[in-house]
Amino acid sequence: MLDLQNIIKRFYVGKPNELEILHGVNLKIKRGEFVSIVGASGSGKSTLMNIIGALDRPTEGEYHLDGIDICKAKDKELSRIRNQKIGFIFQTYNLVARTNALQNVELPMLYGRKGRTDRNKRAKELLELVGMEDRMNHKSDELSGGQKQRVAIARAMANDPAILLADEPTGALDSKTGRLIMDIFHRLHQEQNKTVILITHSNELAEETERILTIKDGLITGERKGSLSYAGA
Ligand code: ADP
Ligand code: MG
Repeated sequence: MLDLQNIIKRFYVGKPNELEILHGVNLKIKRGEFVSIVGASGSGKSTLMNIIGALDRPTEGEYHLDGIDICKAKDKELSRIRNQKIGFIFQTYNLVARTNALQNVELPMLYGRKGRTDRNKRAKELLELVGMEDRMNHKSDELSGGQKQRVAIARAMANDPAILLADEPTGALDSKTGRLIMDIFHRLHQEQNKTVILITHSNELAEETERILTIKDGLITGERKGSLSYAGA
């Protein structure tokens, strides 16, 4: 499903310097897998996530997502692929401030084909799924971190993407709340067959996924099985 070959990412930091952050990452992820990518701060996790999520292009290398050549796709196609295939979850939640939970979840559907009533229905169902139905009229600023992250997961699910890409989703949460968020990912993986890619610096959380990849200084340096067994796609 995801096939990254020899991905190099350099950032231009003013003439004549380019900073190489990813030095040739190879990575394959199957449909329905629950994978974690673990590494220290600054190891290149978010840079890699931006490439996996087609938010950014590699400087060199090849990336195929469901057979589509991401490096050759036009910007417009990339944004279509992102909207259809990938749900993003960030450490900082990135909800729209002063906008209620329901509207936040409806937002990604505004560009799709669903009418107002269907968007509303879907958003309510998703908020129910993450246990936030009784808070749907609360503005995002009025929610706790864990509640915001639950709304963010519901929003990521809005267009029913095959892939959930989460960058340190529990990084700003206490361990009990982080546990609750992990349970939601486990449920979406098991019950809805989502491919979940969890980026974290917590070995403990990574341990409960199917496959753990370690990233160090811009290279995948190791791979091992987690405690969750692969259920197949
Ligand atoms: P992580 O998410 O693992 O903490 P990042 O991928 O955010 O790491 O960053 C890896 C390295 O790349 C860091 O040293 C960071 O400063 C650098 N970096 C990230 N984005 C840019 C950019 N746009 N321009 C220059 N350097 C960057
Ligand atoms: Mg990061």
